[in-house]
Amino acid sequence: MSAARRLVVGNWKMHGSHPANAELLAGILGARPFGCDVAVCVPFPYLSETAVSLAASDLRWGAQDCSAHAQGAYTGEVSAAMLAEFGCRYAIVGHSERRALHGESDQGVADKAKAALGSGVTPIVCVGETREQREAGETAAVVKRQLSAVIHTLAHCVSEMVVAYEPVWAIGTGLSATPQQAQEVHELLRAQLQAASGHASRIRILYGGSVKPDNAAVLFSQPDIDGALVGGASLKAADFVAICRAAG
Ligand code: PEP
Repeated sequence: MSAARRLVVGNWKMHGSHPANAELLAGILGARPFGCDVAVCVPFPYLSETAVSLAASDLRWGAQDCSAHAQGAYTGEVSAAMLAEFGCRYAIVGHSERRALHGESDQGVADKAKAALGSGVTPIVCVGETREQREAGETAAVVKRQLSAVIHTLAHCVSEMVVAYEPVWAIGTGLSATPQQAQEVHELLRAQLQAASGHASRIRILYGGSVKPDNAAVLFSQPDIDGALVGGASLKAADFVAICRAAG
């Protein structure tokens, strides 16, 4: 069973510029109100201007990563406490691009989630299988292993995170999981969260992977899909707004 109010989060990845961001945020702001929670996760240098643009609104903002460390000699890293200073509500952790391109391990992702929560920033923990893993029938085992590391590390704080199921083969490819494929995985993640926390209906499980205006509504109609993590379509105000409306 799913959480009550849906959440739609835009992941801008490494896109943006001052003028493009201003236009995109104005387009989203101008389309409110939405009947769901909405946030944008922007590149670090744009957190400040995003905070200024959205401060007086009900839209939230966040980052796309955070360090597992509190402070120290970690050149290039950004701590969760720094994100909190910029008013971040969310930090994406364990995105498949970071797992694949930066060698992030399940435990490393769990440590980041813990660091985020420790600073009052809600981690959006991404899990998902590759095409090869799906074809080998390993989807359930992979996502459960990825989530398990986070569950054990967060312990009694498990219900404060957001989970995003993002099949790697569906990210940025235009190949979305079918609503049934997504629901099947969301249901098993929900069961795993229920066993760990006792109140999994409070934990929002987002779907991510080529969500677009034309497939959002049917994805949101699934009982365990509580919203979306949106990459490409979050860069066009009209598309992102249409997805938020489908979730409302
Ligand atoms: C993502 O990057 O988290 C994502 C889901 O991307 P896209 O929507 O472009 O597939």
